[in-house]
Amino acid sequence: MDQNSLFEAALGLTAPWKVTGSGLERDESGKMFLCLEIEVQPGAKVPCPCCGQPCTAYDHELKRWRHLNFWQHATYLSARVPRVDCPEHGVRQVEVPWARAGSGFTLMFEALVMALSREMPVSAVAALVGETDTRLWRVVHHYVGQAHAAQDWSEVHTLAIDETATRKGHRYATVAVDLRPETGASARLLFMTPGRSGECVQQVALAMPAHGAQPNQVKMVAMDLSPAYQKGAAEHFPAAQVVFDRFHVMKLAQDATDEVRKQLHRMGGDVKGGLWALRGNREGLKAPQKQLRDELCARYKEIGRALALREHLQETWEWTGAFMAGYHLKQWCQWADRSRLEPAGAVSQAVTHDQKTLGGHPRILPQPDNLGGH
Ligand SMILES: [Zn+2]
Repeated sequence: MDQNSLFEAALGLTAPWKVTGSGLERDESGKMFLCLEIEVQPGAKVPCPCCGQPCTAYDHELKRWRHLNFWQHATYLSARVPRVDCPEHGVRQVEVPWARAGSGFTLMFEALVMALSREMPVSAVAALVGETDTRLWRVVHHYVGQAHAAQDWSEVHTLAIDETATRKGHRYATVAVDLRPETGASARLLFMTPGRSGECVQQVALAMPAHGAQPNQVKMVAMDLSPAYQKGAAEHFPAAQVVFDRFHVMKLAQDATDEVRKQLHRMGGDVKGGLWALRGNREGLKAPQKQLRDELCARYKEIGRALALREHLQETWEWTGAFMAGYHLKQWCQWADRSRLEPAGAVSQAVTHDQKTLGGHPRILPQPDNLGGH
């Protein structure tokens, strides 16, 4: 087997395509690269890209693609690509089996870029393969756009809508995620759009028909307590019950504990070091923090009460049934309202906001959320 036939076999080329030249060359900077020249066998007929009818070549255009490296050397395929003169479709450039139209990379090189892009930033992939990130982004956008367009949303019944910060926190985006709490499947990102207004929720609803789905099939929307999202969900997902997910509710409870601590501080109380000692569950703390937490609870009954409230709220998610979880939460709200801790009362208000329209059931997802990333 000669060298050209060897590369032909390695590329998986079949007639009428042939490797007609191969060799290492040097670029302007002296770096070696492998160049493989490909041609259509003289006189061979090639299919019209529109109808597939075999036609003879009309003329040729020289094109080049970056391919997978040959060992440490960058590799390029260079081909004289025929144009055919189809009786029906006129003069057309034929398709090549190793690349998609308009791309300067072979399909295998694009597959490598996509595989690497899952693991690292595109700029890092660009540095690794020696291409500009602009060129690689074009590849990523193409395949991500294609995969997203093909996504089937017909089984989506529970959505989670949340805001996320992009560009080091300077801009916000809204993400919509498909939750399957009943199957335990991991959450699937469906939609992302700039901003965090009610209009973003509308855009999620508007995107559904293109994915074989309708807003009315969504029975539950989990979210933070943002009024804009609540309003958006009420308008654009009319069949869905809005629920507040665990992370955001527990964050409110944590903020309420912080607020109690700050109030004590403002009134001259000694709560030094309390910010971290009072955060999260006691079991998660190191010994000195545990001790400080116990001391603060003993010194200030307000802190003790705020922490007890926080723990009791957390127990809501230990109930597996929605009925008992709802009952537990109602009890909790009554306790919070009576606690004479203003921040805890505010949490109670927030989670039961609009409760009249929901038969008095506080709106918290009974299962732990599986949004991840928090
Ligand atoms: Zn044709």
